Amino acid sequence: MAVSAVTAPFSALYADHVNPQWVHLLNLLEMNVSYQRCENAELITSEGTRIIDFLSGYCVHNTGHNHAHIVQALQDELGRCGPAMLQSHVSETAGELARRLCEKAGCELTKVFFCSSGSEGVEAAIKFSRAHTGRSGLLYAQKAFHGWTCGALSLMGDSFWSARFGPMLPGTQGIPFNDLNQLEQRLATREFSAFVVEPIQSEAGVILPAGEYLAKARDLCERYGTLLVLDEVQTGLYRTGAFLAAHHYRVKPDMVILAKALSGGLVPSGAVLMREEVYSSVYDSLKRAIIHTSTFSENGLAMRAGLATLDVLDHENLGTRARELGDLLRGRLREELCEFEMVKEVRGAGLLCGVEFQPPAQLRLRLPFEAFLRIHEGLFGQMLVMGMFRRGFLTQICGNHFMVLKAAPPLTVSEQQIECFVTALRDVVETVHSSKTFWTEALGIARRAVNI
Ligand code: PLP
Repeated sequence: MAVSAVTAPFSALYADHVNPQWVHLLNLLEMNVSYQRCENAELITSEGTRIIDFLSGYCVHNTGHNHAHIVQALQDELGRCGPAMLQSHVSETAGELARRLCEKAGCELTKVFFCSSGSEGVEAAIKFSRAHTGRSGLLYAQKAFHGWTCGALSLMGDSFWSARFGPMLPGTQGIPFNDLNQLEQRLATREFSAFVVEPIQSEAGVILPAGEYLAKARDLCERYGTLLVLDEVQTGLYRTGAFLAAHHYRVKPDMVILAKALSGGLVPSGAVLMREEVYSSVYDSLKRAIIHTSTFSENGLAMRAGLATLDVLDHENLGTRARELGDLLRGRLREELCEFEMVKEVRGAGLLCGVEFQPPAQLRLRLPFEAFLRIHEGLFGQMLVMGMFRRGFLTQICGNHFMVLKAAPPLTVSEQQIECFVTALRDVVETVHSSKTFWTEALGIARRAVNI
């Protein structure tokens, strides 16, 4: 099932008026294909080739692409010509969506602020934490990914994302993930309004919290008057097998940020769930009734899509499915990949899975690998992505850890698709370890990249 890359015909216009570098990059990786139809876990190109999605738009498509129930709900919403964005009324559906989200989240989270993206959710969490605590400092875990706005960028240790966009927010501090000592040292200064952390660090390389880390972090935050804010933008909505990853670790956050999969991959949407006291300390008078809001936040389509998405997640038991298929995926990957020296670890939770690679020991492999590193530290990972794409699978490496290939298919993926993915990845990894072609081809690509 080799995918032949036919540059999408509309690419030239896109390059002229939007982002030429993105077009160059996709062309270089032979991934600039035109998608005709996306259904469930399958992406069908204009040439009729089927590609299985193991990226899910970075955990957007938990319910699969274009789920019929969600599409129908959106068509119904459009058809009724209701108040989509009146800005002067009480939304008919926001209350119901908020109630269902809080019910599923539990953890004493009873109020919801809706927004339109994960980054916007992070911004709200920053403002609300500051207002509630009267402190300005913000703690975050190094290698985190929280988004693209200046507030979110200020909570990310990797300067790649923030360089040239500064200055960032003052008073932020990064500490290593899974390090309770450093967390306590910082919290004890009582300068911090919030500790913002992903329960499982996704772009850092699918890093799981050690033992009681999150529960103890919660206790420490409480002791020193700092709010615990969990960024569940990728991990939420059953991605890891539970509605929130927080549920695996029995941790009760003060705030949870959701986005991505919240609206079936069809309408931008985000939600910040929080405890009553946090919310009411922000909206504490008539004068402040809309002190923080956003034009598109409670729009009719996003709310309707959110409700339909929760229906699908429940009716199709996608949490259980994510747990079972995630275990299957990791089990099969371990069986097939453990013999290869460059495969360091397979890890994850539910259908958020990472395969970590490591530098080879054999001289025959080490020399080309080091040449790759000198060109770009992401080159090796991108060659894996390209190899998988040629075999009909869309994947990506982690944004803050280029040696980890992420596997996060829609939760509706089939066992057979998982088996085919494992076979394809084994084939790619075998090629890495046994064929010169892999390395020479990559060097050719790197040379072309330099010439662009
Ligand atoms: N938080 C996490 C963990 C993310 O992965 C992302 C985006 O990838 C964001 C926040 C930002 O979300 P958005 O792109 O919707 O602004």
